[in-house]
Amino acid sequence: MKELLILSGKGGTGKTTITSSFAWLAKNKVLADCDVDAADLHIILSPQESQRHDFISGVKAVVNPSKCTACGTCFELCRYDAIDISDTALVDDFSCEGCGVCAHFCPENAIDLVPNHCGYWFVSDTRFGTLVHAELKPGEENSGKLVSLVKQKARERAEDEGANLLLVDGPPGIGCPVISSFSGADLVIAITEPSKSGLHDLKRVIELSNHFKVPTCVIINKWDLNKSISEEIHEFCTRSKIRLLGTIPFDKRVINALVAEKTVFEEFKDCKAAQSIANIWHQIEKTLEEVKSEPEQRPR
Ligand code: SF4
Ligand code: SF4
Repeated sequence: MKELLILSGKGGTGKTTITSSFAWLAKNKVLADCDVDAADLHIILSPQESQRHDFISGVKAVVNPSKCTACGTCFELCRYDAIDISDTALVDDFSCEGCGVCAHFCPENAIDLVPNHCGYWFVSDTRFGTLVHAELKPGEENSGKLVSLVKQKARERAEDEGANLLLVDGPPGIGCPVISSFSGADLVIAITEPSKSGLHDLKRVIELSNHFKVPTCVIINKWDLNKSISEEIHEFCTRSKIRLLGTIPFDKRVINALVAEKTVFEEFKDCKAAQSIANIWHQIEKTLEEVKSEPEQRPR
Protein backbone atom coordinates (compact mmCIF):
# COMPACT_ATOMS: atom_id res chain seq x y z
CA MET A 1 0.00 0.00 0.00
CA LYS A 2 1.19 3.51 -0.83
CA GLU A 3 0.64 6.69 1.14
CA LEU A 4 0.01 9.87 -0.78
CA LEU A 5 0.17 13.09 1.25
CA ILE A 6 -1.38 16.29 -0.11
CA LEU A 7 0.09 19.49 1.36
CA SER A 8 0.04 23.21 0.81
CA GLY A 9 2.18 25.79 2.55
CA LYS A 10 -0.96 27.54 3.80
CA GLY A 11 -4.75 27.38 3.69
CA GLY A 12 -6.79 28.64 0.75
CA THR A 13 -4.77 27.10 -2.09
CA GLY A 14 -7.56 24.69 -3.04
CA LYS A 15 -5.92 21.71 -1.34
CA THR A 16 -9.16 20.19 -0.06
CA THR A 17 -10.97 20.79 -3.34
CA ILE A 18 -8.21 18.99 -5.22
CA THR A 19 -7.87 16.21 -2.63
CA SER A 20 -11.60 15.48 -2.85
CA SER A 21 -11.27 15.30 -6.64
CA PHE A 22 -8.43 12.80 -6.22
CA ALA A 23 -10.70 10.88 -3.84
CA TRP A 24 -13.27 10.70 -6.63
CA LEU A 25 -10.64 9.50 -9.14
CA ALA A 26 -8.67 7.05 -6.99
CA LYS A 27 -9.65 3.40 -6.81
CA ASN A 28 -9.37 1.07 -3.81
CA LYS A 29 -8.26 3.64 -1.25
CA VAL A 30 -8.88 4.83 2.29
CA LEU A 31 -9.01 8.57 3.03
CA ALA A 32 -7.49 10.38 6.00
CA ASP A 33 -8.25 14.00 6.85
CA CYS A 34 -5.27 15.20 8.88
CA ASP A 35 -6.35 18.85 8.98
CA VAL A 36 -7.49 18.25 12.56
CA ASP A 37 -7.55 21.93 13.59
CA ALA A 38 -9.97 22.96 10.86
CA ALA A 39 -11.12 19.84 9.03
CA ASP A 40 -13.13 20.62 5.92
CA LEU A 41 -12.88 17.55 3.68
CA HIS A 42 -16.12 16.34 5.30
CA ILE A 43 -18.00 19.27 3.74
CA ILE A 44 -17.58 17.67 0.31
CA LEU A 45 -17.52 14.03 1.41
CA SER A 46 -20.61 14.18 3.71
CA PRO A 47 -19.35 11.34 5.93
CA GLN A 48 -21.74 9.05 7.78
CA GLU A 49 -20.09 8.45 11.13
CA SER A 50 -19.74 4.75 11.95
CA GLN A 51 -17.29 5.04 14.86
CA ARG A 52 -16.53 7.84 17.32
CA HIS A 53 -13.60 7.60 19.75
CA ASP A 54 -12.32 9.94 22.45
CA PHE A 55 -8.93 11.54 21.97
CA ILE A 56 -7.23 11.84 25.36
CA SER A 57 -3.88 13.55 25.71
CA GLY A 58 -2.09 14.86 28.81
CA VAL A 59 -3.77 15.91 32.05
CA LYS A 60 -5.51 18.96 33.53
CA ALA A 61 -5.76 20.10 37.15
CA VAL A 62 -9.15 19.77 38.83
CA VAL A 63 -9.85 21.25 42.28
CA ASN A 64 -12.00 19.43 44.83
CA PRO A 65 -13.90 22.38 46.38
CA SER A 66 -14.81 20.41 49.51
CA LYS A 67 -11.11 20.08 50.39
CA CYS A 68 -9.83 23.49 49.20
CA THR A 69 -9.29 26.14 51.91
CA ALA A 70 -8.49 28.88 49.38
CA CYS A 71 -4.98 29.27 50.86
CA GLY A 72 -3.66 30.62 47.52
CA THR A 73 -0.54 28.41 47.30
CA CYS A 74 -1.53 27.03 43.90
CA PHE A 75 -2.36 30.54 42.64
CA GLU A 76 1.13 31.71 43.56
CA LEU A 77 2.92 28.70 42.08
CA CYS A 78 1.13 28.31 38.75
CA ARG A 79 3.40 29.90 36.15
CA TYR A 80 0.70 29.68 33.48
CA ASP A 81 -1.74 31.95 35.39
CA ALA A 82 -4.29 29.16 35.12
CA ILE A 83 -5.63 29.52 38.68
CA ASP A 84 -7.89 32.10 40.24
CA ILE A 85 -8.96 32.21 43.88
CA SER A 86 -12.50 32.92 44.95
CA ASP A 87 -14.25 30.90 47.68
CA THR A 88 -12.05 28.06 46.39
CA ALA A 89 -9.34 27.74 43.76
CA LEU A 90 -10.65 27.79 40.17
CA VAL A 91 -8.70 26.31 37.25
CA ASP A 92 -8.97 27.77 33.75
CA ASP A 93 -8.88 24.68 31.48
CA PHE A 94 -7.62 26.67 28.49
CA SER A 95 -4.55 27.91 30.38
CA CYS A 96 -3.70 24.80 32.41
CA GLU A 97 -0.72 22.97 30.92
CA GLY A 98 -1.03 19.99 33.26
CA CYS A 99 2.41 20.50 34.77
CA GLY A 100 1.22 19.18 38.16
CA VAL A 101 2.96 21.77 40.36
CA CYS A 102 -0.29 22.87 42.02
CA ALA A 103 -1.28 19.28 42.86
CA HIS A 104 2.16 18.54 44.25
CA PHE A 105 2.25 21.53 46.61
CA CYS A 106 -1.43 21.79 47.65
CA PRO A 107 -1.37 21.36 51.45
CA GLU A 108 -4.90 19.90 51.44
CA ASN A 109 -4.42 17.42 48.57
CA ALA A 110 -7.34 19.19 46.98
CA ILE A 111 -6.08 19.00 43.37
CA ASP A 112 -6.24 15.99 41.08
CA LEU A 113 -4.69 15.66 37.65
CA VAL A 114 -7.27 14.09 35.35
CA PRO A 115 -6.88 12.84 31.77
CA ASN A 116 -7.52 15.63 29.29
CA HIS A 117 -10.25 15.00 26.75
CA CYS A 118 -8.96 16.92 23.71
CA GLY A 119 -11.40 15.83 21.01
CA TYR A 120 -12.58 12.88 18.94
CA TRP A 121 -11.48 10.77 16.03
CA PHE A 122 -13.95 9.08 13.71
CA VAL A 123 -14.27 6.36 11.12
CA SER A 124 -16.94 7.27 8.57
CA ASP A 125 -18.44 5.97 5.36
CA THR A 126 -18.45 8.30 2.37
CA ARG A 127 -19.53 7.87 -1.24
CA PHE A 128 -15.80 7.59 -2.07
CA GLY A 129 -14.93 5.00 0.60
CA THR A 130 -13.82 5.00 4.22
CA LEU A 131 -12.68 8.26 5.79
CA VAL A 132 -10.75 8.53 9.06
CA HIS A 133 -10.95 12.05 10.47
CA ALA A 134 -10.85 13.96 13.73
CA GLU A 135 -11.94 17.01 15.60
CA LEU A 136 -9.77 18.84 18.11
CA LYS A 137 -11.56 20.89 20.75
CA PRO A 138 -10.99 24.67 20.47
CA GLY A 139 -7.84 25.79 22.24
CA GLU A 140 -6.28 22.31 22.42
CA GLU A 141 -2.69 22.06 21.22
CA ASN A 142 -2.10 18.37 20.62
CA SER A 143 -2.79 18.41 16.91
CA GLY A 144 0.53 16.69 16.02
CA LYS A 145 -0.40 13.73 18.22
CA LEU A 146 -3.92 13.60 16.79
CA VAL A 147 -2.54 13.65 13.23
CA SER A 148 -0.32 10.66 14.09
CA LEU A 149 -3.33 8.86 15.55
CA VAL A 150 -5.53 9.56 12.50
CA LYS A 151 -2.81 8.29 10.17
CA GLN A 152 -2.21 5.18 12.24
CA LYS A 153 -5.94 4.33 12.37
CA ALA A 154 -6.38 5.08 8.65
CA ARG A 155 -3.43 2.82 7.84
CA GLU A 156 -4.91 0.00 9.94
CA ARG A 157 -8.25 0.47 8.23
CA ALA A 158 -6.62 0.46 4.78
CA GLU A 159 -4.84 -2.79 5.60
CA ASP A 160 -8.10 -4.36 6.85
CA GLU A 161 -9.86 -3.36 3.64
CA GLY A 162 -6.99 -4.48 1.39
CA ALA A 163 -6.70 -0.95 -0.03
CA ASN A 164 -3.66 -0.12 -2.12
CA LEU A 165 -3.69 3.62 -1.42
CA LEU A 166 -3.96 5.83 1.65
CA LEU A 167 -4.90 9.31 0.46
CA VAL A 168 -4.06 11.87 3.14
CA ASP A 169 -5.33 15.45 3.18
CA GLY A 170 -2.53 17.09 5.17
CA PRO A 171 -2.72 20.09 7.49
CA PRO A 172 -1.85 23.54 6.12
CA GLY A 173 1.40 25.30 7.00
CA ILE A 174 4.65 23.67 8.12
CA GLY A 175 4.08 23.26 11.86
CA CYS A 176 3.96 20.24 14.16
CA PRO A 177 0.86 18.63 12.57
CA VAL A 178 2.47 18.80 9.12
CA ILE A 179 5.65 17.23 10.43
CA SER A 180 3.55 14.40 11.94
CA SER A 181 1.77 13.90 8.63
CA PHE A 182 5.07 13.13 6.85
CA SER A 183 5.57 9.88 8.73
CA GLY A 184 5.08 6.94 6.36
CA ALA A 185 4.37 9.11 3.28
CA ASP A 186 5.64 7.65 -0.01
CA LEU A 187 4.89 10.72 -2.10
CA VAL A 188 4.03 14.33 -1.27
CA ILE A 189 2.00 16.52 -3.59
CA ALA A 190 2.55 20.20 -2.76
CA ILE A 191 -0.26 22.42 -4.02
CA THR A 192 0.54 26.06 -4.53
CA GLU A 193 -1.05 29.12 -6.09
CA PRO A 194 0.64 31.80 -8.21
CA SER A 195 1.35 34.48 -5.62
CA LYS A 196 4.53 35.64 -3.88
CA SER A 197 3.30 34.17 -0.60
CA GLY A 198 2.33 30.94 -2.40
CA LEU A 199 5.88 30.56 -3.75
CA HIS A 200 7.38 31.41 -0.35
CA ASP A 201 5.19 28.81 1.38
CA LEU A 202 5.94 26.23 -1.31
CA LYS A 203 9.67 26.63 -0.67
CA ARG A 204 9.11 25.92 3.02
CA VAL A 205 7.15 22.73 2.22
CA ILE A 206 9.92 21.60 -0.14
CA GLU A 207 12.52 22.23 2.58
CA LEU A 208 10.52 19.98 4.89
CA SER A 209 10.14 17.19 2.36
CA ASN A 210 13.84 17.39 1.55
CA HIS A 211 14.55 17.12 5.25
CA PHE A 212 12.36 14.00 5.55
CA LYS A 213 13.60 12.69 2.18
CA VAL A 214 10.10 12.16 0.82
CA PRO A 215 9.73 12.46 -2.98
CA THR A 216 7.70 15.58 -3.75
CA CYS A 217 5.88 16.93 -6.78
CA VAL A 218 4.15 20.27 -7.30
CA ILE A 219 0.79 21.39 -8.69
CA ILE A 220 0.00 25.03 -9.43
CA ASN A 221 -3.67 25.71 -8.82
CA LYS A 222 -5.37 28.66 -10.58
CA TRP A 223 -2.11 29.09 -12.49
CA ASP A 224 -3.58 31.59 -14.99
CA LEU A 225 -4.43 34.17 -12.30
CA ASN A 226 -0.79 35.28 -12.37
CA LYS A 227 1.14 33.77 -15.24
CA SER A 228 4.45 35.46 -14.45
CA ILE A 229 4.56 34.02 -10.90
CA SER A 230 3.47 30.65 -12.29
CA GLU A 231 6.53 30.89 -14.52
CA GLU A 232 8.66 31.74 -11.46
CA ILE A 233 7.30 28.64 -9.68
CA HIS A 234 8.08 26.57 -12.77
CA GLU A 235 11.67 27.89 -12.80
CA PHE A 236 12.02 27.21 -9.06
CA CYS A 237 10.88 23.60 -9.61
CA THR A 238 13.31 23.12 -12.51
CA ARG A 239 16.20 24.60 -10.49
CA SER A 240 15.35 22.45 -7.47
CA LYS A 241 14.81 19.30 -9.57
CA ILE A 242 11.22 19.05 -8.33
CA ARG A 243 8.71 17.61 -10.76
CA LEU A 244 5.93 20.05 -11.69
CA LEU A 245 3.09 17.59 -12.29
CA GLY A 246 0.73 20.08 -13.85
CA THR A 247 -1.29 23.24 -13.60
CA ILE A 248 -5.00 23.81 -13.02
CA PRO A 249 -6.72 26.86 -14.52
CA PHE A 250 -9.03 29.09 -12.51
CA ASP A 251 -12.57 27.94 -13.15
CA LYS A 252 -15.69 29.29 -11.45
CA ARG A 253 -17.33 25.90 -11.86
CA VAL A 254 -14.93 24.49 -9.26
CA ILE A 255 -16.37 27.01 -6.79
CA ASN A 256 -19.93 26.24 -7.90
CA ALA A 257 -19.30 22.55 -7.29
CA LEU A 258 -17.86 23.37 -3.87
CA VAL A 259 -20.96 25.39 -3.01
CA ALA A 260 -23.04 22.34 -3.98
CA GLU A 261 -20.76 20.29 -1.63
CA LYS A 262 -19.61 18.15 -4.56
CA THR A 263 -16.37 17.56 -6.43
CA VAL A 264 -16.00 19.26 -9.78
CA PHE A 265 -16.23 15.80 -11.42
CA GLU A 266 -19.70 15.23 -10.03
CA GLU A 267 -21.01 18.56 -11.29
CA PHE A 268 -18.93 19.66 -14.31
CA LYS A 269 -16.71 16.76 -15.30
CA ASP A 270 -15.96 18.15 -18.77
CA CYS A 271 -14.72 21.56 -17.61
CA LYS A 272 -11.07 22.51 -18.13
CA ALA A 273 -10.20 22.38 -14.44
CA ALA A 274 -11.60 18.84 -14.16
CA GLN A 275 -9.65 17.74 -17.21
CA SER A 276 -6.43 19.19 -15.76
CA ILE A 277 -7.03 17.45 -12.42
CA ALA A 278 -7.69 14.15 -14.22
CA ASN A 279 -4.43 14.51 -16.20
CA ILE A 280 -2.53 15.29 -13.03
CA TRP A 281 -4.06 12.28 -11.29
CA HIS A 282 -2.82 10.11 -14.14
CA GLN A 283 0.69 11.53 -13.54
CA ILE A 284 0.40 10.83 -9.83
CA GLU A 285 -0.55 7.20 -10.45
CA LYS A 286 2.48 6.80 -12.71
CA THR A 287 4.74 8.50 -10.17
CA LEU A 288 3.46 6.26 -7.36
CA GLU A 289 4.35 3.27 -9.54
CA GLU A 290 7.88 4.65 -10.03
CA VAL A 291 8.23 5.13 -6.29
CA LYS A 292 7.16 1.50 -5.90
CA SER A 293 9.38 -0.06 -8.55
CA GLU A 294 12.56 1.99 -8.16
CA PRO A 295 12.85 3.29 -4.61
CA GLU A 296 16.50 4.24 -5.13
CA GLN A 297 15.52 6.49 -8.05
CA ARG A 298 12.48 8.16 -6.54
CA PRO A 299 11.39 11.27 -8.43
CA ARG A 300 12.19 14.52 -6.64
S1 SF4 B 1 -3.28 25.07 47.17
FE1 SF4 B 1 -4.95 23.61 47.51
S2 SF4 B 1 -6.02 24.39 49.28
FE2 SF4 B 1 -4.71 26.05 48.58
S3 SF4 B 1 -6.05 27.23 47.22
FE3 SF4 B 1 -5.00 25.76 45.96
S4 SF4 B 1 -6.38 24.00 45.86
FE4 SF4 B 1 -7.06 25.25 47.54
S1 SF4 C 1 -1.28 21.78 36.52
FE1 SF4 C 1 0.28 23.35 36.27
S2 SF4 C 1 -0.59 24.69 34.70
FE2 SF4 C 1 -2.29 23.48 35.48
S3 SF4 C 1 -3.16 24.73 37.08
FE3 SF4 C 1 -1.67 23.36 38.05
S4 SF4 C 1 0.22 24.55 38.14
FE4 SF4 C 1 -1.14 25.56 36.70
